[in-house]
Amino acid sequence: MRTMIVGGGIGGLSTALSLHAAGLDCVVIEAARTLRPLGVGINVQPHAVRELTELGLGPALAELGVETTFMSVADRHGNIIMALPRGRSAGYRWPQYSVHRGELQMLLLAAVERRIGPVRTGVRFEGFEQDGDGVLVTLRQDGRVSRERVDVLVGADGVQSSVRARLHDPAGDLLRWGGIRMWRGIGESDQVLDGATVLAGGSNSAAKFVTYHISARNPRLLNWVAEVKVAEPGIVADADWSRTGSHADVARHFASWKYPLVDIPALLAATKRILEYPMVDRDPLPRWGEGRVTLLGDAAHPMYPIGSNGGSQAVLDARFLARCLATHDDPAAALAAYEAERRPPTSALVLAHRSLPIEKTIGLVAERAPDGFRHVSDVLTAEELAAMEAAQRGISDADVRALNERESWSV
Ligand SMILES: Cc1cc2nc3c(=O)[nH]c(=O)nc-3n(C[C@H](O)[C@H](O)[C@H](O)COP(=O)(O)OP(=O)(O)OC[C@H]3O[C@@H](n4cnc5c(N)ncnc54)[C@H](O)[C@@H]3O)c2cc1C
Repeated sequence: MRTMIVGGGIGGLSTALSLHAAGLDCVVIEAARTLRPLGVGINVQPHAVRELTELGLGPALAELGVETTFMSVADRHGNIIMALPRGRSAGYRWPQYSVHRGELQMLLLAAVERRIGPVRTGVRFEGFEQDGDGVLVTLRQDGRVSRERVDVLVGADGVQSSVRARLHDPAGDLLRWGGIRMWRGIGESDQVLDGATVLAGGSNSAAKFVTYHISARNPRLLNWVAEVKVAEPGIVADADWSRTGSHADVARHFASWKYPLVDIPALLAATKRILEYPMVDRDPLPRWGEGRVTLLGDAAHPMYPIGSNGGSQAVLDARFLARCLATHDDPAAALAAYEAERRPPTSALVLAHRSLPIEKTIGLVAERAPDGFRHVSDVLTAEELAAMEAAQRGISDADVRALNERESWSV
C-alpha cells in the first residue's frame, strides 16, 4: 500500500516516519523547493514527545530543545498569578519541550531522508480523483503537470490546505480571525525565571507577551510572541507564517509596560527578524476526508497557535493514522477509523482555543487589580484559582494518567 503525503511540515514528516515504522510505503511531496528551518518557537507536549520517542527520536529531541518545567501566567506588571507544572513536572512519563519549529522540522526531515529517502520538493499538489481502487493525484513541478496513482492520499498541507479545498467547498470553509495579531521572534536575553518556563504576561483582551527559552545549545535564546487585539473578529483571505513584521508595530503596544520579568524593549531590539501572523483558525469540519483521502495536522484542524497544540496534535494524528492503515485491510476503513478517533478531540481543541480559560483568569485579575497586586490571594479566591487551573489543564494537560497508562500506538 503506497501513501502520498502532501506537505513536508511537522505533520507530513511525522506521518512518513510513522508509516515507515509501521512497515508501510510512502512518499512526501512538498511545494517549497527547499525545506529550510522556518518559524520560531513551539512547544511539543508530552503526548507528542511520547510518539516521537517511540519513533526513536527521543535523544535527538532532548539535545535540541529545553525541557519545559512550568507555564506561568502573570499580569502586565509581572506579578505571577499561577504556575502550572508541565511535562514531567506535571507527572507525565514524557517531557514537554520548547523548541525551534524549524529545527524540529529539520530533525524530522533528516530522519525521513535517512530511513525512507528524499522528500520530493518543488512539487505542488493540484487535485485528485478517486475510485474504489486508488487515488489519481495531479501534481505540478516546474510548470509541468503530471498524474500519479497511489493507494491513499493524506493532505498535510497546512492551514491553507489545497487538499482540504478539494474536499470541502472553500466558500463555506473560511479563515476566521479573532482580531488578534501575533508578532513573533527570537532574541537573546538573560535567563527568564528558571530558564525553562513558558511565561505569559498580560491578556488577549488587550496585549499579551509570551516568552520561553528554546535551545539546549544556547540558553540565551528567548522566543517571544506578542499577541495584540487590533480588530474585531472577522474573516481574512490568507495567513502567511513567514510575513515580516516591524519592530515599531509591536513595540508601541508594550511601551507603557513595566515588566520586570523580561526586558521587552531589549529583547525586541535583539531580534533580527520579526514575523507577523493573524491569529486564525477554521470551524471544525463535520468530516475530514472521503474514501482513500484524508487530512492531517493543520489541514484538518487549524487552531490558534497559543495552546502548544499545533505541532503536537499533528504528531498524534500521524501516529494514529499509521496505526489504522497498518491494522486495517481496507484503506477507506482505516481512514474512517483514524478520523473517528482524531476528529472529535481536535475539533474540541479548535473551539477551546478560541477562549482559553487562562484568559478569563487574567482578565479577572486585570479588572480587580488594574495596577497590580502583592499576592494572588488578594485578587482571586482559592476556589477561583483551583477552578481556573483545572480548566486550563483540560486544554494542555489532558490526562496524565491516561497517557502514562495507555498502550503504545506502535504496530
Ligand atoms: C513556514 C512555516 C512557519 C511556521 N512557523 C510557526 C511558528 O513560528 N509557530 C507556530 O506555532 N507555528 C508555526 N507554523 C505552523 C506549525 O508548523 C503547524 O501549526 C504545526 O506544526 C502543524 O504542522 P502541519 O505539518 O500540519 O502544517 P505546516 O507546518 O503548515 O506544513 C504544511 C506544509 O505543506 C506544504 N504545502 C502547502 N501546500 C502544498 C501543496 N499544494 N503541495 C505540496 N505541499 C504543500 C507547505 O509548504 C508546508 O511545508 C509554521 C508553519 C509553516 C509552514
